Amino acid sequence: MRNLRRLVAATLAGLAALFAWVWLTLPPRTQAVDLGGWPPDTSPPTARGVFHVHSDRSDGSASVDDIAAAAARAGLEFVIFTDHGDGTRTPDPPVYRAGVLCIDAVEISTSGGHYIALGLPASPYPLAGEALEVVEDVRRLGGFGIVAHPASAKADLQWKDFGLEYDGIEWLNADSQWRDESSRAIGAAALRYMLRPSEALAALLDRPDHALAQWDHSTRRRQVVGLAGADAHAHLASVGRGRDAGGTAFAFPGYEPVFRAFSNNVALARPLGGEKWAAQDAALLLAGIRAGRVFTTIDMVAAPARFSFEGRIDDASYPMGARLQTAQPVALAVRAQGPPGARIVLLADGNRVATVEGEALNFIATSPAAYRVEVLVPGAPGTPAIPWIVSNPIYIGNGASEIPPPPPSIVSSRDLNPDFDFDMDIETGAWVLEHDARSTASVEHLVDRVLFDYALLGPPPTAAAIVYYLGDENRAALDRFIFDVRADRPTRASVQLKMNDETGVS
Ligand SMILES: [Zn+2]
Ligand SMILES: [Zn+2]
Repeated sequence: MRNLRRLVAATLAGLAALFAWVWLTLPPRTQAVDLGGWPPDTSPPTARGVFHVHSDRSDGSASVDDIAAAAARAGLEFVIFTDHGDGTRTPDPPVYRAGVLCIDAVEISTSGGHYIALGLPASPYPLAGEALEVVEDVRRLGGFGIVAHPASAKADLQWKDFGLEYDGIEWLNADSQWRDESSRAIGAAALRYMLRPSEALAALLDRPDHALAQWDHSTRRRQVVGLAGADAHAHLASVGRGRDAGGTAFAFPGYEPVFRAFSNNVALARPLGGEKWAAQDAALLLAGIRAGRVFTTIDMVAAPARFSFEGRIDDASYPMGARLQTAQPVALAVRAQGPPGARIVLLADGNRVATVEGEALNFIATSPAAYRVEVLVPGAPGTPAIPWIVSNPIYIGNGASEIPPPPPSIVSSRDLNPDFDFDMDIETGAWVLEHDARSTASVEHLVDRVLFDYALLGPPPTAAAIVYYLGDENRAALDRFIFDVRADRPTRASVQLKMNDETGVS
C-alpha cells in the first residue's frame, strides 16, 4: 500500500515537472503587427491560402469539406488540394466550400521526386516514371508543374534533377521541416501542441537553406515560382497511413493548426468574386501563381502581414515575377510592415545585397540577377531563423544568356526492368520484342510497316519495346535514323540508341 502511494506520488511529481517544463518552454505567441503606418490600400488585391493539401481521397485524414472548413476557421481564402495520382482523373471543378475557394490539383510520383501539377486537365495516359518525361508532359498538357519537397530528409522523396524545366518549386515544405527534427523534438512539440498548436508547429520551422539555394540556382537561368507547401495530411507518417492503417490515425498535426502556421499570398488582377465565380476566381488565382506574383508569410511568427515589392523604370512599375530585359538601372522598392526590429533583406541570385531595419528598402539594381526579398523578425524560430516573409523574384536581364544552362541531364538509358526478357535470337533485318513480366507485346511485320501491339499491365516501371539490331557494319555506315511512328491513342514513346563498346552500353 505504502509502495503504491509512493508510486502515485512519484508519478504525480513527474507529471507536474513535465507540465511545468512544457509550460515554461511554450513557444511565444504570434506577434501582433500594427498596420497604422500602412498607406490606404494602393496595392493589388491579394488572396491568402494554402497550397499542397492531401484529403482522404489519397493519404490525408479528412474529407474535402472538413478541410475547407478548417481553412475557413484559419481565415484562409483558398485551398489547393494535391492528392496523389497519375493525372488521369478529371480534376474537380473549382468550387467554394465554407466560403473557401477549393482548387483540385494532383501530386505525381516520378522516379526523380514528387511533382505537383496545377491546372492540368485529365491526362490521356498515366503520368509516372522518369521525372523528365512527367515534367515535359505536364507542360505539354497545359499544366503548371511544381517540385514538391525538393530537399526532403527522406532520400526517395528528394528531387533529383535541377536541370529539368519545372515551373515552380516549394521553397518551404512543412512535412520536410518536421521530418528533419529529432523524435525528441517532435515529442516535445506534440506536448506543447496541446496548449498552443500552431505556435508549436511553427517553432519547428528553420530557414530551409538547401531548398532556397536550389530555388536560387534555378532562377539564375529562368523564371521559377517559389511556393510554401503545407503538405498537410493531418498525421505524421510514422504514426501510420491514416485510413490505410485501418483506423483513425492520431490527427497530429491537424489541418487547422498547419493552415494557421503559414500561407501563400497571391496578388490578383481583381478581388475574388465568390460562390458564383468559382471558375473565374480559380483562373485568376492560378494566373497569379503562374506569373510569380506570390509571397509567403509565416503567420504564426507575426500577423497580419502587409508587403509590396516592385521594380521601377522611369514611371513604369513591374510586379514580382516580372522579367525586365533592360540595360537601364532598375529601382527596386520594398515595403513591409512588421513588428519592431523587422529587417528587410534583398538578395540577388541568393546573395545578400542590401539590408535595412525598418519598413522600406530602396535599391538601384544595375546588374542582371534574380532579386528576391526576405523579411526577418526577431524571435522567429529556427536555426537559422525562418524568414517571416519570402517574396518571389523580380528578374533583371536576360537570364538565359548570363549563365549557360547546365548540360542537358543524361536520360538514363532506362534499363527497364531487371527481369527483362532477353531470351531471344538477336538477328539483323527484323524487329524483335523486349518487355517485362508485367507486360504483353507482339510484333507483326507488314509490307510497309511494323505493327507493335502491347499492354502495360502493372504499375510503373513497366515497359514494352521493339528493338532493331543494326549490326556492327551497318552501324558504321549510318549517320541518322528516320522513321514515322503512329499510335491509335495518345501515348508516350521514347527512342533509345544503344551502343556496345568498351565503355559498355550507352
Ligand atoms: Zn510528396
Ligand atoms: Zn504531398
